[in-house]
Amino acid sequence: MQGLLDQKIENGGFVITKTEELLNWARLSSMWPLGFGLACCAIEMMATFASNYDLDRLGIFPRNSPRQSDVMIVAGTVTFKMADRIRRLYQQMAEPRYVISMGSCSNCGGPYWEHGYHVVKGVDRIVPVDVYVPGCPPRPEALIGGLLKLQDKIRKETIVAPKGIEALL
Ligand code: SF4
Repeated sequence: MQGLLDQKIENGGFVITKTEELLNWARLSSMWPLGFGLACCAIEMMATFASNYDLDRLGIFPRNSPRQSDVMIVAGTVTFKMADRIRRLYQQMAEPRYVISMGSCSNCGGPYWEHGYHVVKGVDRIVPVDVYVPGCPPRPEALIGGLLKLQDKIRKETIVAPKGIEALL
């Protein structure tokens, strides 16, 4: 789809594609992340959103409301107290919605894996995760890599069966 759009279309020509591919292209070209900063990883996430990395060129615009977002980035330590809030905000996002888990804490509990009685051992126990970004903390380049991976995933999606948290329940 992108390749076709890069080509010059002469004499008011037209493009034939599948609805699915058109929708996927539109979705992956305008991802609006909800940054859910919970600990040190959030600093790297905020750095990623800064002008240095220019996420606008990828169509990525961070938002502050779950109702305007389609990608939740969970960055940091997920405590049991926050778990309920994360799930509630996820449920407020319109479908199709996606989750990126950023950093070891969010991926699996990180340094709290063994003795952290207060830490959820992976945010995927609360919401479905699409992409895991490893690191403690991951650098902005790693998070951008995760966003690109998510774009690849969306590119191959089918519109037949929308995904959602219901699959986990
Ligand atoms: Fe902090 Fe490391 Fe946990 Fe990120 S993964 S929140 S940097 S302890």
